[in-house]
Amino acid sequence: MVAAASLARLDVPVVLVEAEDEPKTDWRASTFHAATLELLSGLGVVEQMHAEGLQVPIYHFRDRRDGLVAEFDFSLLADETPYPYRLQLNQQHLVRMLHRQLADTPGVTLLFGTRVTGVEPAPGGGASVLVEGRGGASALDAAHVIGADGAGSTVRRSLGVGFTGYTYPERFLIASTTIDLSEALPGIADVNYVADPHEWLFLLRTVESWRAVWPVPPEQSEDEAKDEATLQRQFQGVAPRPGGYPIVDRQLYRVHQRVAETFRAGDVVLIGDAAHINSPMGGVGLNSGIHDAMDVTRRIARIRSGEGDAESELSTFAELRHRVAVEYVQADTQRNTQRLMETDEARRRASHDEMRAIATDPGRARAYMRRASLLESVRRFGIGLPPGHPSPSEAVPAH
Ligand SMILES: Cc1cc2nc3c(=O)[nH]c(=O)nc-3n(C[C@H](O)[C@H](O)[C@H](O)COP(=O)(O)OP(=O)(O)OC[C@H]3O[C@@H](n4cnc5c(N)ncnc54)[C@H](O)[C@@H]3O)c2cc1C
Repeated sequence: MVAAASLARLDVPVVLVEAEDEPKTDWRASTFHAATLELLSGLGVVEQMHAEGLQVPIYHFRDRRDGLVAEFDFSLLADETPYPYRLQLNQQHLVRMLHRQLADTPGVTLLFGTRVTGVEPAPGGGASVLVEGRGGASALDAAHVIGADGAGSTVRRSLGVGFTGYTYPERFLIASTTIDLSEALPGIADVNYVADPHEWLFLLRTVESWRAVWPVPPEQSEDEAKDEATLQRQFQGVAPRPGGYPIVDRQLYRVHQRVAETFRAGDVVLIGDAAHINSPMGGVGLNSGIHDAMDVTRRIARIRSGEGDAESELSTFAELRHRVAVEYVQADTQRNTQRLMETDEARRRASHDEMRAIATDPGRARAYMRRASLLESVRRFGIGLPPGHPSPSEAVPAH
């Protein structure tokens, strides 16, 4: 949706092919970081996102036994971004806003209920996209194809591109309740990463609910993990509450750290989960996918207008975004996840000491927050802008 909206803004005709009959409404990612809000501000949705979302400047790194370990405040970045906070908003709301916008945009064709079954790059450039919809099978010819079809990407498989990495043995259970956990656990922030050698936790607030994430061991069945009695027991372990917790959403999902071997084959590119997937610890999966989308669409627009050379634009996209996926997204989410689940007592203590030291040193805290908000990678590599172009924060006024 973001790639289609960006292409439309850049006057590039676009056909969006989506297997589902309508935009998905399930609760998945819930955080938009500063760098992403800067990029989205060019798409005309950021004001609405602020109207519907929660601005959360502070988050906690905690320990289940010891309580608060370190507090981080994104306000430290107020001199460098108009958005010095995490905006908590479930991702389907952005999809809804963009869908509404795209439905009325000339040059945009939305093909819902249509599945891509394969992609064949053409020898002279462009590609043929094989699709199956209500009218049967057909092929679409395109100058460029953006594979944004998620972790199981048909586009990636059809190109024969490997997806190397690993899968965590434990699955992650996400359960949401309408009870205000900050009343049950006074002093917690709106976003909390809680370390524990036995059962780490991730607690965060959205407008609709409080969400808790915890690990589910390999031997526990999905039915048992999602069972009402199990979830009640888990929530009571987080904060005892007579009368129990109304649970409004529950999902069990498998978490991987994987990156596609290449993000490009000719004029076909991979972005988002089709290109890289990671642990949700840090809330950077969706964000970095949006950065991929903005990067490649700006390059495609330049290629079409004759300002950019196709080979160098697309190879730069593939190289830089692969680097960001490995050096930032994978590296940081692996470290964040390990901090939470560390079982070795000495390493756990050392990790907590390091977090305390970072949080209490303004210079280190700032560097840490720049990385966590994805501002560092955006400032370092740019997002699809030609050399000399102002960085996104300079180009974008505050909302
Ligand atoms: C339960 C859950 C919780 C999550 N929580 C977080 C979180 O807290 N923080 C975070 O950063 N990330 C989180 N994520 C990950 C985040 O949701 C993804 O990074 C993000 O959705 C990736 O966007 P995408 O557009 O690349 O892929 P997707 O959102 O997977 O979208 C791919 C789209 O392509 C469509 N599609 C697939 N195959 C085809 C085909 N062959 N033809 C046509 N259409 C097709 C699908 O229907 C889908 O609409 C979570 C994911 C899950 C599942």
